[in-house]
Amino acid sequence: VLMAHWVPLTRDSGNRGTVAVFHDISDLKRVETMRRDFVANVSHELRTPVAVIKGYGETLLDGALEESPERSRRFVEIIVSHAERLTNLINDILTLSKLEARDAALTLHPLDLCGTIRKAQMLMEDHARSKGIRIAAECPDGMPKVLADQGQLEQVLLNLLDNAIKYTPDGGDVTVAARLEQERVVVAVSDTGIGIPARDLPRIFERFYRVDEGRSREQGGTGLGLAIVKHIVQLHGGEVQVASEAGKGSTFTVTLPTV
Ligand code: ADP
Repeated sequence: VLMAHWVPLTRDSGNRGTVAVFHDISDLKRVETMRRDFVANVSHELRTPVAVIKGYGETLLDGALEESPERSRRFVEIIVSHAERLTNLINDILTLSKLEARDAALTLHPLDLCGTIRKAQMLMEDHARSKGIRIAAECPDGMPKVLADQGQLEQVLLNLLDNAIKYTPDGGDVTVAARLEQERVVVAVSDTGIGIPARDLPRIFERFYRVDEGRSREQGGTGLGLAIVKHIVQLHGGEVQVASEAGKGSTFTVTLPTV
């Protein structure tokens, strides 16, 4: 997309007439469109849980509260679960906008990756156990340190583990394994879950893209987890890839530069 400015030439310069100066505004336009889409999506995503909370609250006030304690309890549970969804959503939106605002200001330190993996494994243990899933962690001795922001790297592992658990049926397996590959550290988070159809793979890192919106909602998903992962990994000069087969499982691979 080209935008033209018409600049009149002055007599002083000894010339007459007008020149057209063209600027390529494709990038600006793309960023602006993305921003507008994001705001529209955010409004839609926030409205849904608020509407549900309001609806059930009103039904309670309209008589359900007096009529049936059992039904009231179910309504309150629905209200609480949508309030939780709202909290997750607000947290993820804030995380993303902070990541965008502080592009230049990551605090990178040489970091022991194995320690960070063990910590993430520990933090997700309860969630996994509630579904009969065991998280196996593999990290060989003598791994070089990675240059990373500790909190952010933890967030990457937590988001990937959370998804692996969410999208794996009860009793499945989740593994987080680190290895060294051509001077770069590779961390793979694998699961034996529902997998991702090939046609959806190219889009899953987009904000709010979900393969199955209902399932994501049910699991308390926001559709922002992988967008956050991708953003953080890119800020570290790394990359994230996915391999998956529907019905078999998925493997997310994060590659990071070493110190
Ligand atoms: P959500 O909050 O919906 O989980 P994410 O951005 O974390 O959002 O993931 C986007 C979508 O990618 C999910 O809705 C889901 O469809 C798919 N997905 C992510 N991780 C996995 C996984 N380990 N197994 C199967 N599907 C996954």
